[in-house]
Amino acid sequence: MSKIVLIGANHAGTAAANTILDQYPGNKLTIFDSNSNISYLGCGTALWIGKQITDTKGLFYSSAKILTDKGAEVRMETSVERIDFAGKTVYAKGKDGAEIKESYDKLILATGSLPIEPKIPGTNLKNVHFVKLFQDGEAVNKALDDPGVKKVAVIGAGYIGVEIAEAVKRRGKKVLLFEAAPTSLVTYYDSWFTDDMDKNLADNGVELHFGEMLKAIEGSDKVTGVVSDKGSYDVELVIMSIGFRPNNALGKDHLKLFPNGSYQVDLHQQTSDPNVYAVGDCATVWSNAIGGPAYIALATNAVRSGIVAGHNVGGTPLESGGVQGSNGICIFGFKMVSTGLNVAAAKKAGFDPVYTDYEDLQKPAFIDGENGKVKLRVVYDKKSRRILGAQMASHYDVSMGIHMFSLAIEEKVTIEKLALLDIFFLPHFNQPYNYITMAALSAK
Ligand SMILES: Cc1cc2nc3c(=O)[nH]c(=O)nc-3n(C[C@H](O)[C@H](O)[C@H](O)COP(=O)(O)OP(=O)(O)OC[C@H]3O[C@@H](n4cnc5c(N)ncnc54)[C@H](O)[C@@H]3O)c2cc1C
Repeated sequence: MSKIVLIGANHAGTAAANTILDQYPGNKLTIFDSNSNISYLGCGTALWIGKQITDTKGLFYSSAKILTDKGAEVRMETSVERIDFAGKTVYAKGKDGAEIKESYDKLILATGSLPIEPKIPGTNLKNVHFVKLFQDGEAVNKALDDPGVKKVAVIGAGYIGVEIAEAVKRRGKKVLLFEAAPTSLVTYYDSWFTDDMDKNLADNGVELHFGEMLKAIEGSDKVTGVVSDKGSYDVELVIMSIGFRPNNALGKDHLKLFPNGSYQVDLHQQTSDPNVYAVGDCATVWSNAIGGPAYIALATNAVRSGIVAGHNVGGTPLESGGVQGSNGICIFGFKMVSTGLNVAAAKKAGFDPVYTDYEDLQKPAFIDGENGKVKLRVVYDKKSRRILGAQMASHYDVSMGIHMFSLAIEEKVTIEKLALLDIFFLPHFNQPYNYITMAALSAK
């Protein structure tokens, strides 16, 4: 029997815990989490704020009780304050202030990420919110209920900022969306796609302030405005979403770190300390597109890494297959999905990327209704011809198509191989010369 301590029980931690409890029941598992809830699906925050869903119960898929009933010792609202790695002991503080000491044979760090706070004046004012926890969603909801809040600045047009901008607009407020980059969603998409998303946002009434850097939030007690390098704007609420940083406080002085501070792990999720594993947003992932470690903070990666760590800690050696950073977004009904690298990211990773584009209807033109235009870009390496990434956009739901590209990247498929792939045709679903085949056939 091993003594396993798990710190953090959100997506990565819950996946690791379930794997250990379900498949390796002989071990003693102690779980610490500083929060009062676990398994909160942050992806639901925007839907909830935008009142597209009313019941938040469905945003949780596990609980301390479920894990306790399976045999874990779960200590909620208990923050681990330090770890003696040489003595293999963690020291935590409960909400009553009592110190708890727990030794381990194996330790799993699943401490996640924290919102990045810009170093500008005014971030401590009332009505400045970050969106990460369930409690943050509650606070933003309450702030938006105030009829005095008419104008809201959303800072950062990554996928969370864009989603929150839509949600706030749905609440009938004026939304100013600020982004230092020239477009939204620069990490995942090329401008052929982001131009469409930016137009979609503007068409739906979001005021875009792209290429504009926030310099200060103004107000004496409560927010009254924001100042950028291009102007000053009156707003009553600010929602910050400029990204996340790995929460490495407990291990940063002991474990090997990636340049952004995340715990560097191998394919077993093992850190530089053989008794310590790290999973989810606090750790690196292996990017199959880059062929090296990367930091991609997504719940999907968190869950998979938790499962891998759970097996390894439980005694079954298991390697992660790596990830492609597959992601999707749906804003005012306009959907974009991508996997792997966009052109800019591929260049940054040292490739010589070229791409092939195709735009067509999903189904033959004779199909009335439930049809729509689809845009596809496949990015590949000029020399090796290996597929590096793909982006798709449509009002129609084409999301399942991106999974094939994800596997293609993982399996190092070339663009030529894709051109001759067996893709079925039925007018109810697609076209005989469908856009995937056509994009691959027209690759230079
Ligand atoms: C608004 C929003 C929308 C998102 N949408 C999506 C989406 O659509 N799809 C997607 O794939 N991903 C999405 N994400 C990202 C996803 O939520 C994260 O990647 C995921 O939460 C990472 O899970 P994690 O368990 O690694 O870390 P976290 O969720 O950060 O959890 C870490 C846990 O560790 C605990 N903890 C930290 N330090 C300590 C300590 N010292 N002692 C005890 N406990 C500690 C915390 O209380 C927390 O419960 C979204 C994130 C946000 C904020």
